[in-house]
Amino acid sequence: MSVKNVKAYGTEASDAVLEQLDITRREVTSKDIEIDILYCGVCHSDLHFARNDWGFSVYPVVPGHEIVGKVIKVGEGITKFNVGELVAVGCLVDSCRECNNCKNDLEQYCPEFVGTYGGQDKHLNMQTFGGYSESIVVDEDFVLKIPKNLDLAGIAPILCAGITTWSPLRHWNVKKGSKVAVIGLGGLGHMAIKLANALGADVTLFSRSPNKMQDALDLGANQVVISTDEMQMENAQGLFDLIIDTVPYSHDLNPYVGTLNTNGTLVLVGYLGPLDPMLNSVPMILGRKTVAGSLIGGIAETQELLDFCGKHDIISDIEIINIQDINEAYERMLKSDVHYRFVIDMGSLKD
Ligand code: NAP
Ligand code: ZN
Ligand code: ZN
Repeated sequence: MSVKNVKAYGTEASDAVLEQLDITRREVTSKDIEIDILYCGVCHSDLHFARNDWGFSVYPVVPGHEIVGKVIKVGEGITKFNVGELVAVGCLVDSCRECNNCKNDLEQYCPEFVGTYGGQDKHLNMQTFGGYSESIVVDEDFVLKIPKNLDLAGIAPILCAGITTWSPLRHWNVKKGSKVAVIGLGGLGHMAIKLANALGADVTLFSRSPNKMQDALDLGANQVVISTDEMQMENAQGLFDLIIDTVPYSHDLNPYVGTLNTNGTLVLVGYLGPLDPMLNSVPMILGRKTVAGSLIGGIAETQELLDFCGKHDIISDIEIINIQDINEAYERMLKSDVHYRFVIDMGSLKD
């Protein structure tokens, strides 16, 4: 298979900084689309993966799965997309297409799903490289249409931060009057507030950061609970139908389970790993409460969200950076100093 070299930004080791490097991309096959990347959002998962927090990174790592760009080439079998069209790619670039999950538009739960980075490229037999790069080649089934009325850079975070919070909002049937809480005001958290608000829910933010209170209200939260304030936590007991927990690191879930209403669900989308301290089953049993998990969303659901955002004029609140600023952006992300998503202007890699 013919390949070509492309400029990218990535890291060669868990303790190394990100810097410019060359990667290979396949030439388009009949079902592929080549995209000139214009913007790429910066997800906390990019940082986890670059630093091997989850223990399965393969180097070099080129992160980035919130991609917006322009089609520059299409394979001969492509009918849905045209050269010059603006499109998006999220966290998935392939799956088996045959399992029950794939047949039910749940490609994210396919045992053979291929992540946009750190996945196993079926064509080149090597790991996939993400959107911190000049261009990407993707099977048309994993390319998304974007609403024409929205700011391009602000759309990028919808592809991960947006869909990761939209999917549980939809799965747990959030609607007008639902009581939804969000833990952590970062990339995922701010999209969760906007989307839950647009669905008509009453939205509460749990945050450790009192300085983010006004922002949360401006984003669409109805109230804020400072999670380190025992009195405020006490006052929130038994309130919520759904809690979306976006905190990236191990933390105590028990105080939050107490804030669920009977039949309520706390869904983890942030931290990946064993819980410490353990969950106390007593409040779960006494209130038929659920602690669950959720992974991004399928392709059809991501398209549904992009269309919803177009209709409701929803984009991410972003800070645009150059690719050369990425290491500093990661340090700021670790300090919860993101307002509320970094998006890389990929033109800075091409200069
Ligand atoms: P982010 O922008 O860094 O936001 C995380 C927020 O969590 C922070 O702003 C902070 O909010 C809160 N937080 C609480 N404890 C923290 C701590 N010890 N360190 C840092 N922040 C802490 O991250 P993100 O991009 O939204 O991603 C959140 C997590 O979701 C990451 O672990 C990421 O890997 C994961 N993720 C999962 C999926 C999935 O499919 N399940 C998809 C995308 C991302 P306050 O200041 O308000 O407390
Ligand atoms: Zn992500
Ligand atoms: Zn499958």
